[in-house]
Amino acid sequence: MAKSADFVWHSIIIGGGAAGLFCAASYRTPKLLLEHNPRTGLKVSVSGGGKCNFSNTSVSERNYIGRHKHFAQPALAAWKPQDFIRLLEEEHIPFEEKENGQLFARSAPEIAALLERRARQNNTDIRCNSEVLQVSTENHLFHIQTSQGILRAAHIVIATGGLSYPELGASGFAFRTARELGLQCTTLRPALVGLRAAANWRGIFRQLAGISLEAEIRIGKHKERGPILFTHEGISGPAILQSSLYWREGESIQINFLPVLDVRKFLQENKNQPVCFSKLLSAHINVKAVKALLAEYDVRACDAKRNTLQEAAQRLNYFSFTPISTAGYTRAEVTAGGVDTAQFCPHTLECKTLPGLFYIGEALDVTGRLGGYNLHWAWASAAAAARALAKQ
Ligand SMILES: Cc1cc2nc3c(=O)[nH]c(=O)nc-3n(C[C@H](O)[C@H](O)[C@H](O)COP(=O)(O)OP(=O)(O)OC[C@H]3O[C@@H](n4cnc5c(N)ncnc54)[C@H](O)[C@@H]3O)c2cc1C
Repeated sequence: MAKSADFVWHSIIIGGGAAGLFCAASYRTPKLLLEHNPRTGLKVSVSGGGKCNFSNTSVSERNYIGRHKHFAQPALAAWKPQDFIRLLEEEHIPFEEKENGQLFARSAPEIAALLERRARQNNTDIRCNSEVLQVSTENHLFHIQTSQGILRAAHIVIATGGLSYPELGASGFAFRTARELGLQCTTLRPALVGLRAAANWRGIFRQLAGISLEAEIRIGKHKERGPILFTHEGISGPAILQSSLYWREGESIQINFLPVLDVRKFLQENKNQPVCFSKLLSAHINVKAVKALLAEYDVRACDAKRNTLQEAAQRLNYFSFTPISTAGYTRAEVTAGGVDTAQFCPHTLECKTLPGLFYIGEALDVTGRLGGYNLHWAWASAAAAARALAKQ
Protein backbone atom coordinates (compact mmCIF):
# COMPACT_ATOMS: atom_id res chain seq x y z
CA MET A 1 0.00 0.00 0.00
CA ALA A 2 1.34 3.51 -0.86
CA LYS A 3 2.50 5.48 2.16
CA SER A 4 1.67 9.16 2.60
CA ALA A 5 4.53 11.68 2.42
CA ASP A 6 4.60 12.20 6.19
CA PHE A 7 4.62 8.46 6.99
CA VAL A 8 7.32 7.53 9.52
CA TRP A 9 8.90 4.10 9.04
CA HIS A 10 9.90 2.08 12.10
CA SER A 11 13.16 1.37 10.30
CA ILE A 12 14.81 1.94 6.96
CA ILE A 13 17.74 -0.24 5.92
CA ILE A 14 20.07 1.42 3.44
CA GLY A 15 21.89 -1.08 1.20
CA GLY A 16 20.54 -4.40 -0.07
CA GLY A 17 23.75 -6.41 0.12
CA ALA A 18 24.70 -9.25 2.47
CA ALA A 19 24.27 -7.35 5.74
CA GLY A 20 21.24 -5.24 4.76
CA LEU A 21 19.24 -8.19 3.40
CA PHE A 22 20.13 -10.43 6.32
CA CYS A 23 19.17 -7.74 8.82
CA ALA A 24 15.80 -7.25 7.04
CA ALA A 25 15.27 -11.03 7.07
CA SER A 26 15.98 -11.28 10.80
CA TYR A 27 13.15 -9.26 12.42
CA ARG A 28 9.46 -9.07 11.64
CA THR A 29 8.63 -5.39 12.13
CA PRO A 30 7.50 -3.83 8.80
CA LYS A 31 10.42 -1.91 7.30
CA LEU A 32 11.83 -0.49 4.10
CA LEU A 33 15.06 -1.50 2.36
CA LEU A 34 16.63 0.83 -0.21
CA GLU A 35 19.14 -0.37 -2.80
CA HIS A 36 20.56 1.73 -5.61
CA ASN A 37 21.32 -1.22 -7.92
CA PRO A 38 18.53 -2.63 -10.09
CA ARG A 39 18.81 -5.86 -8.01
CA THR A 40 19.73 -6.72 -4.43
CA GLY A 41 22.68 -8.90 -3.40
CA LEU A 42 24.89 -8.40 -6.45
CA LYS A 43 28.15 -8.92 -4.54
CA VAL A 44 26.81 -11.99 -2.75
CA SER A 45 25.82 -13.38 -6.18
CA VAL A 46 29.43 -13.38 -7.39
CA SER A 47 31.10 -14.14 -4.07
CA GLY A 48 33.42 -17.08 -3.59
CA GLY A 49 33.95 -17.42 -7.34
CA GLY A 50 30.20 -18.01 -7.78
CA LYS A 51 29.95 -20.49 -4.86
CA CYS A 52 29.71 -18.03 -1.94
CA ASN A 53 32.15 -18.85 0.85
CA PHE A 54 29.44 -17.90 3.33
CA SER A 55 31.24 -18.74 6.59
CA ASN A 56 33.90 -20.87 8.21
CA THR A 57 33.68 -23.75 10.68
CA SER A 58 35.86 -21.78 13.08
CA VAL A 59 35.09 -18.09 13.57
CA SER A 60 36.40 -15.84 16.33
CA GLU A 61 37.49 -12.23 16.71
CA ARG A 62 41.06 -13.41 15.93
CA ASN A 63 40.00 -13.75 12.29
CA TYR A 64 39.36 -9.99 12.05
CA ILE A 65 41.41 -6.81 12.10
CA GLY A 66 40.26 -3.35 13.14
CA ARG A 67 41.31 -0.62 15.56
CA HIS A 68 39.24 -2.07 18.40
CA LYS A 69 40.23 -5.72 18.43
CA HIS A 70 37.44 -7.10 20.62
CA PHE A 71 34.52 -5.14 19.14
CA ALA A 72 33.27 -8.00 16.96
CA GLN A 73 33.28 -10.56 19.79
CA PRO A 74 29.71 -10.18 21.21
CA ALA A 75 28.05 -10.25 17.77
CA LEU A 76 30.17 -13.23 16.70
CA ALA A 77 29.38 -15.05 19.94
CA ALA A 78 25.64 -14.58 19.35
CA TRP A 79 25.61 -15.65 15.68
CA LYS A 80 27.64 -18.81 14.94
CA PRO A 81 28.44 -20.55 11.65
CA GLN A 82 26.03 -23.29 12.80
CA ASP A 83 23.20 -20.74 12.78
CA PHE A 84 23.69 -19.99 9.09
CA ILE A 85 24.06 -23.70 8.33
CA ARG A 86 20.72 -24.33 10.05
CA LEU A 87 19.13 -21.72 7.81
CA LEU A 88 20.50 -23.44 4.69
CA GLU A 89 19.31 -26.81 5.94
CA GLU A 90 15.80 -25.45 6.57
CA GLU A 91 15.76 -24.25 2.96
CA HIS A 92 17.31 -27.50 1.62
CA ILE A 93 20.24 -25.55 0.18
CA PRO A 94 23.35 -27.74 -0.14
CA PHE A 95 26.75 -26.57 1.06
CA GLU A 96 30.17 -28.09 1.55
CA GLU A 97 33.23 -27.66 3.73
CA LYS A 98 36.51 -27.12 1.89
CA GLU A 99 40.10 -26.67 3.12
CA ASN A 100 40.72 -24.56 6.24
CA GLY A 101 37.10 -24.92 7.34
CA GLN A 102 35.74 -22.75 4.51
CA LEU A 103 32.02 -23.27 3.97
CA PHE A 104 30.75 -22.90 0.41
CA ALA A 105 27.25 -22.99 -1.04
CA ARG A 106 26.36 -24.75 -4.29
CA SER A 107 25.60 -21.45 -5.96
CA ALA A 108 26.10 -17.86 -4.78
CA PRO A 109 22.97 -16.53 -6.59
CA GLU A 110 20.97 -19.12 -4.63
CA ILE A 111 22.18 -17.48 -1.37
CA ALA A 112 21.33 -14.00 -2.66
CA ALA A 113 17.84 -15.22 -3.64
CA LEU A 114 17.37 -16.84 -0.21
CA LEU A 115 18.25 -13.57 1.55
CA GLU A 116 15.83 -11.54 -0.52
CA ARG A 117 13.04 -14.11 -0.12
CA ARG A 118 13.48 -14.23 3.65
CA ALA A 119 13.57 -10.43 3.85
CA ARG A 120 10.25 -10.19 1.96
CA GLN A 121 8.71 -12.92 4.12
CA ASN A 122 9.65 -10.82 7.15
CA ASN A 123 7.72 -7.73 6.09
CA THR A 124 10.35 -5.88 4.09
CA ASP A 125 9.35 -3.49 1.36
CA ILE A 126 12.36 -3.68 -1.01
CA ARG A 127 12.93 -0.74 -3.33
CA CYS A 128 15.69 -1.12 -5.92
CA ASN A 129 16.96 1.71 -8.15
CA SER A 130 16.67 3.86 -5.04
CA GLU A 131 19.84 5.73 -4.25
CA VAL A 132 20.18 7.29 -0.83
CA LEU A 133 21.84 10.65 -1.20
CA GLN A 134 21.91 12.06 2.31
CA VAL A 135 20.79 11.40 5.87
CA SER A 136 20.01 14.07 8.46
CA THR A 137 18.30 14.14 11.84
CA GLU A 138 15.40 16.32 12.93
CA ASN A 139 13.04 16.00 15.92
CA HIS A 140 14.47 12.58 16.86
CA LEU A 141 13.73 11.25 13.37
CA PHE A 142 16.01 10.41 10.46
CA HIS A 143 15.32 12.21 7.19
CA ILE A 144 16.55 10.22 4.23
CA GLN A 145 16.95 12.00 0.96
CA THR A 146 16.71 9.49 -1.88
CA SER A 147 16.72 9.70 -5.65
CA GLN A 148 12.92 9.29 -5.32
CA GLY A 149 12.17 11.81 -2.60
CA ILE A 150 12.44 12.23 1.16
CA LEU A 151 11.56 9.46 3.61
CA ARG A 152 11.45 9.47 7.40
CA ALA A 153 12.25 6.78 9.93
CA ALA A 154 12.69 6.31 13.66
CA HIS A 155 15.67 3.98 13.07
CA ILE A 156 18.08 3.60 10.20
CA VAL A 157 20.55 0.84 9.43
CA ILE A 158 23.47 1.77 7.22
CA ALA A 159 24.53 -1.37 5.36
CA THR A 160 26.09 0.12 2.24
CA GLY A 161 29.42 -1.71 2.56
CA GLY A 162 32.82 -0.38 1.53
CA LEU A 163 34.56 0.85 -1.60
CA SER A 164 35.55 -2.46 -3.20
CA TYR A 165 34.14 -3.39 -6.58
CA PRO A 166 32.38 -0.16 -7.57
CA GLU A 167 30.90 -1.95 -10.61
CA LEU A 168 28.80 -4.01 -8.18
CA GLY A 169 27.41 -0.90 -6.49
CA ALA A 170 30.08 -0.05 -3.90
CA SER A 171 30.00 3.59 -2.85
CA GLY A 172 31.55 5.82 -0.24
CA PHE A 173 28.09 6.55 1.18
CA ALA A 174 28.68 4.90 4.58
CA PHE A 175 31.83 6.89 5.25
CA ARG A 176 30.59 10.23 3.89
CA THR A 177 27.39 9.93 5.92
CA ALA A 178 29.31 8.99 9.08
CA ARG A 179 31.39 12.16 8.76
CA GLU A 180 28.30 14.27 8.05
CA LEU A 181 26.71 12.88 11.22
CA GLY A 182 29.83 13.76 13.23
CA LEU A 183 31.29 10.24 13.42
CA GLN A 184 34.93 9.25 12.89
CA CYS A 185 36.29 6.83 10.31
CA THR A 186 39.62 5.02 10.44
CA THR A 187 41.96 5.03 7.43
CA LEU A 188 40.46 3.18 4.47
CA ARG A 189 42.50 0.97 2.13
CA PRO A 190 41.90 -1.85 -0.34
CA ALA A 191 42.52 -5.29 1.21
CA LEU A 192 42.39 -8.97 0.27
CA VAL A 193 44.01 -7.80 -2.93
CA GLY A 194 47.14 -8.43 -5.03
CA LEU A 195 50.24 -6.23 -4.81
CA ARG A 196 51.88 -4.37 -7.69
CA ALA A 197 55.63 -4.47 -8.26
CA ALA A 198 57.84 -1.58 -9.38
CA ALA A 199 59.44 -1.75 -12.82
CA ASN A 200 62.62 -3.49 -11.58
CA TRP A 201 60.73 -6.64 -10.52
CA ARG A 202 57.64 -6.34 -12.66
CA GLY A 203 59.44 -7.69 -15.75
CA ILE A 204 60.42 -10.86 -13.90
CA PHE A 205 56.99 -11.34 -12.31
CA ARG A 206 55.34 -10.84 -15.71
CA GLN A 207 57.49 -13.62 -17.24
CA LEU A 208 56.20 -15.89 -14.48
CA ALA A 209 52.53 -14.80 -14.70
CA GLY A 210 50.25 -17.75 -13.98
CA ILE A 211 52.82 -19.73 -11.96
CA SER A 212 51.79 -20.55 -8.41
CA LEU A 213 54.18 -21.51 -5.58
CA GLU A 214 53.85 -22.38 -1.91
CA ALA A 215 55.60 -19.53 -0.08
CA GLU A 216 55.93 -17.77 3.24
CA ILE A 217 55.32 -14.02 3.39
CA ARG A 218 56.51 -11.71 6.15
CA ILE A 219 55.27 -8.16 6.64
CA GLY A 220 56.73 -6.66 9.78
CA LYS A 221 55.85 -9.15 12.52
CA HIS A 222 53.10 -10.78 10.50
CA LYS A 223 53.78 -14.14 8.85
CA GLU A 224 51.56 -15.93 6.31
CA ARG A 225 52.11 -19.25 4.54
CA GLY A 226 50.25 -20.53 1.48
CA PRO A 227 50.03 -20.32 -2.31
CA ILE A 228 51.16 -17.18 -4.12
CA LEU A 229 50.58 -16.40 -7.78
CA PHE A 230 52.74 -14.31 -10.10
CA THR A 231 50.70 -11.85 -12.18
CA HIS A 232 51.37 -9.37 -14.98
CA GLU A 233 51.40 -6.56 -12.43
CA GLY A 234 53.11 -8.21 -9.49
CA ILE A 235 52.01 -10.89 -7.12
CA SER A 236 48.73 -12.29 -5.83
CA GLY A 237 47.27 -15.62 -4.60
CA PRO A 238 45.74 -16.51 -1.21
CA ALA A 239 48.87 -15.90 0.93
CA ILE A 240 49.38 -12.46 -0.65
CA LEU A 241 45.68 -11.56 -0.32
CA GLN A 242 45.82 -12.42 3.39
CA SER A 243 49.09 -10.47 3.77
CA SER A 244 47.56 -7.41 2.10
CA LEU A 245 45.45 -6.97 5.25
CA TYR A 246 48.65 -6.03 7.08
CA TRP A 247 50.54 -4.17 4.35
CA ARG A 248 50.84 -0.38 4.40
CA GLU A 249 52.11 1.76 1.51
CA GLY A 250 55.92 2.07 1.50
CA GLU A 251 56.46 -1.08 3.56
CA SER A 252 58.67 -3.87 2.21
CA ILE A 253 57.59 -7.50 2.18
CA GLN A 254 59.79 -10.53 2.46
CA ILE A 255 59.02 -13.73 0.56
CA ASN A 256 60.47 -17.15 1.24
CA PHE A 257 59.89 -18.95 -2.07
CA LEU A 258 61.16 -22.22 -0.61
CA PRO A 259 59.97 -22.40 2.99
CA VAL A 260 60.68 -26.14 3.18
CA LEU A 261 64.36 -25.80 2.27
CA ASP A 262 67.38 -24.01 3.75
CA VAL A 263 68.69 -23.04 0.31
CA ARG A 264 72.09 -21.88 1.53
CA LYS A 265 72.76 -25.19 3.29
CA PHE A 266 71.46 -27.18 0.31
CA LEU A 267 73.69 -25.33 -2.16
CA GLN A 268 76.70 -25.66 0.15
CA GLU A 269 76.14 -29.40 0.32
CA ASN A 270 76.06 -29.55 -3.49
CA LYS A 271 78.78 -27.01 -4.22
CA ASN A 272 80.94 -29.42 -6.24
CA GLN A 273 78.18 -30.35 -8.70
CA PRO A 274 78.83 -29.33 -12.34
CA VAL A 275 75.21 -28.14 -12.82
CA CYS A 276 73.40 -24.81 -12.43
CA PHE A 277 71.69 -23.89 -9.18
CA SER A 278 68.31 -23.90 -10.94
CA LYS A 279 68.82 -27.52 -12.05
CA LEU A 280 69.85 -28.54 -8.53
CA LEU A 281 66.77 -26.86 -7.08
CA SER A 282 64.31 -28.03 -9.74
CA ALA A 283 63.12 -30.93 -7.53
CA HIS A 284 61.90 -28.36 -4.97
CA ILE A 285 60.57 -25.39 -6.96
CA ASN A 286 59.17 -24.60 -10.42
CA VAL A 287 62.25 -24.43 -12.65
CA LYS A 288 61.05 -21.44 -14.71
CA ALA A 289 60.46 -19.49 -11.48
CA VAL A 290 63.82 -20.34 -9.96
CA LYS A 291 65.66 -19.40 -13.17
CA ALA A 292 63.94 -16.02 -13.38
CA LEU A 293 64.38 -15.27 -9.67
CA LEU A 294 68.06 -16.20 -9.63
CA ALA A 295 68.77 -14.44 -12.96
CA GLU A 296 72.55 -13.75 -13.10
CA TYR A 297 73.11 -15.80 -9.93
CA ASP A 298 72.05 -19.00 -11.67
CA VAL A 299 75.56 -20.35 -12.23
CA ARG A 300 77.09 -23.82 -12.06
CA ALA A 301 77.48 -24.83 -8.41
CA CYS A 302 81.09 -25.89 -8.91
CA ASP A 303 81.98 -22.44 -10.34
CA ALA A 304 80.03 -20.35 -7.80
CA LYS A 305 81.90 -17.88 -5.61
CA ARG A 306 80.84 -17.69 -1.95
CA ASN A 307 79.03 -14.37 -2.52
CA THR A 308 77.13 -15.72 -5.50
CA LEU A 309 75.93 -18.73 -3.52
CA GLN A 310 74.86 -16.49 -0.66
CA GLU A 311 73.02 -14.10 -2.94
CA ALA A 312 71.23 -17.01 -4.69
CA ALA A 313 70.11 -18.40 -1.33
CA GLN A 314 69.03 -14.94 -0.19
CA ARG A 315 66.86 -14.45 -3.28
CA LEU A 316 64.98 -17.65 -2.66
CA ASN A 317 64.67 -17.72 1.15
CA TYR A 318 64.68 -13.95 1.92
CA PHE A 319 63.43 -12.20 -1.22
CA SER A 320 62.53 -8.65 -0.29
CA PHE A 321 60.72 -6.03 -2.33
CA THR A 322 58.56 -2.97 -1.77
CA PRO A 323 55.26 -3.10 -3.69
CA ILE A 324 54.33 0.22 -5.29
CA SER A 325 50.65 -0.22 -4.43
CA THR A 326 47.85 -2.74 -4.16
CA ALA A 327 45.82 -3.62 -7.24
CA GLY A 328 43.21 -1.12 -5.93
CA TYR A 329 39.51 -1.10 -5.05
CA THR A 330 38.47 -2.44 -8.46
CA ARG A 331 40.09 -5.78 -7.53
CA ALA A 332 40.05 -5.75 -3.71
CA GLU A 333 37.62 -8.15 -2.04
CA VAL A 334 37.14 -5.76 0.85
CA THR A 335 37.84 -2.31 2.26
CA ALA A 336 39.98 -2.42 5.39
CA GLY A 337 39.21 0.32 7.90
CA GLY A 338 35.80 1.94 8.16
CA VAL A 339 33.51 3.71 10.56
CA ASP A 340 35.25 3.66 13.94
CA THR A 341 33.61 1.01 16.10
CA ALA A 342 34.34 2.85 19.38
CA GLN A 343 31.20 4.88 18.62
CA PHE A 344 28.90 1.80 18.58
CA CYS A 345 27.56 -0.69 21.10
CA PRO A 346 29.13 -4.07 20.23
CA HIS A 347 25.98 -5.97 21.30
CA THR A 348 23.46 -4.00 19.22
CA LEU A 349 25.56 -2.11 16.61
CA GLU A 350 23.65 1.04 17.60
CA CYS A 351 25.47 4.35 17.66
CA LYS A 352 26.19 5.56 21.21
CA THR A 353 25.78 9.24 20.40
CA LEU A 354 22.91 9.00 17.87
CA PRO A 355 20.33 6.50 19.16
CA GLY A 356 18.38 4.87 16.35
CA LEU A 357 21.37 4.84 13.99
CA PHE A 358 22.89 1.40 13.28
CA TYR A 359 25.92 0.51 11.17
CA ILE A 360 26.48 -3.11 10.08
CA GLY A 361 28.70 -5.13 7.72
CA GLU A 362 31.78 -4.00 5.88
CA ALA A 363 31.12 -0.28 6.43
CA LEU A 364 32.43 -0.71 9.98
CA ASP A 365 36.12 -1.00 10.84
CA VAL A 366 35.93 -4.79 11.12
CA THR A 367 37.72 -6.65 8.33
CA GLY A 368 37.90 -10.41 8.08
CA ARG A 369 40.58 -12.65 6.67
CA LEU A 370 39.99 -14.64 3.50
CA GLY A 371 37.93 -17.75 4.19
CA GLY A 372 34.28 -16.73 4.66
CA TYR A 373 34.89 -14.31 7.52
CA ASN A 374 33.63 -11.15 5.82
CA LEU A 375 30.27 -12.62 4.95
CA HIS A 376 30.10 -14.12 8.42
CA TRP A 377 30.62 -10.64 9.87
CA ALA A 378 27.84 -9.33 7.59
CA TRP A 379 25.45 -12.00 9.02
CA ALA A 380 26.58 -11.63 12.65
CA SER A 381 26.45 -7.82 12.73
CA ALA A 382 23.08 -7.83 10.91
CA ALA A 383 21.63 -10.35 13.36
CA ALA A 384 22.81 -8.25 16.33
CA ALA A 385 21.16 -5.09 14.95
CA ALA A 386 17.98 -7.01 14.07
CA ARG A 387 17.66 -8.35 17.65
CA ALA A 388 17.89 -4.79 18.95
CA LEU A 389 15.48 -3.39 16.35
CA ALA A 390 12.91 -6.09 17.08
CA LYS A 391 12.70 -4.77 20.65
CA GLN A 392 12.32 -1.08 19.74
C1 LIG B 1 34.30 -10.43 -5.89
C2 LIG B 1 34.08 -10.59 -4.40
C3 LIG B 1 33.98 -11.87 -3.87
C4 LIG B 1 33.81 -12.03 -2.47
N1 LIG B 1 33.69 -13.29 -1.97
C5 LIG B 1 33.54 -13.46 -0.63
C6 LIG B 1 33.35 -14.76 -0.08
O1 LIG B 1 33.24 -15.76 -0.79
N2 LIG B 1 33.26 -14.85 1.28
C7 LIG B 1 33.32 -13.77 2.10
O2 LIG B 1 33.23 -13.92 3.33
N3 LIG B 1 33.43 -12.52 1.60
C8 LIG B 1 33.54 -12.35 0.25
N4 LIG B 1 33.64 -11.07 -0.25
C9 LIG B 1 33.46 -9.93 0.65
C10 LIG B 1 31.95 -9.80 0.99
O3 LIG B 1 31.19 -9.98 -0.18
C11 LIG B 1 31.64 -8.43 1.61
O4 LIG B 1 32.47 -8.24 2.73
C12 LIG B 1 30.16 -8.37 2.02
O5 LIG B 1 29.34 -8.47 0.88
C13 LIG B 1 29.89 -7.07 2.75
O6 LIG B 1 28.50 -7.01 2.99
P1 LIG B 1 27.78 -5.59 3.15
O7 LIG B 1 26.33 -5.88 3.16
O8 LIG B 1 28.39 -4.85 4.26
O9 LIG B 1 28.14 -4.81 1.81
P2 LIG B 1 27.68 -5.19 0.28
O10 LIG B 1 27.39 -6.64 0.17
O11 LIG B 1 28.73 -4.58 -0.54
O12 LIG B 1 26.31 -4.42 0.15
C14 LIG B 1 26.21 -3.02 0.13
C15 LIG B 1 25.00 -2.64 -0.70
O13 LIG B 1 24.71 -1.25 -0.55
C16 LIG B 1 24.37 -0.72 -1.83
N5 LIG B 1 24.60 0.74 -1.79
C17 LIG B 1 25.80 1.39 -1.72
N6 LIG B 1 25.61 2.72 -1.68
C18 LIG B 1 24.26 2.92 -1.70
C19 LIG B 1 23.45 4.08 -1.67
N7 LIG B 1 23.95 5.33 -1.58
N8 LIG B 1 22.09 3.93 -1.74
C20 LIG B 1 21.52 2.68 -1.81
N9 LIG B 1 22.27 1.54 -1.85
C21 LIG B 1 23.62 1.66 -1.79
C22 LIG B 1 25.28 -1.48 -2.78
O14 LIG B 1 24.79 -1.45 -4.11
C23 LIG B 1 25.23 -2.89 -2.18
O15 LIG B 1 24.16 -3.66 -2.70
C24 LIG B 1 33.78 -10.89 -1.63
C25 LIG B 1 33.88 -9.61 -2.18
C26 LIG B 1 34.03 -9.46 -3.56
C27 LIG B 1 34.14 -8.07 -4.13
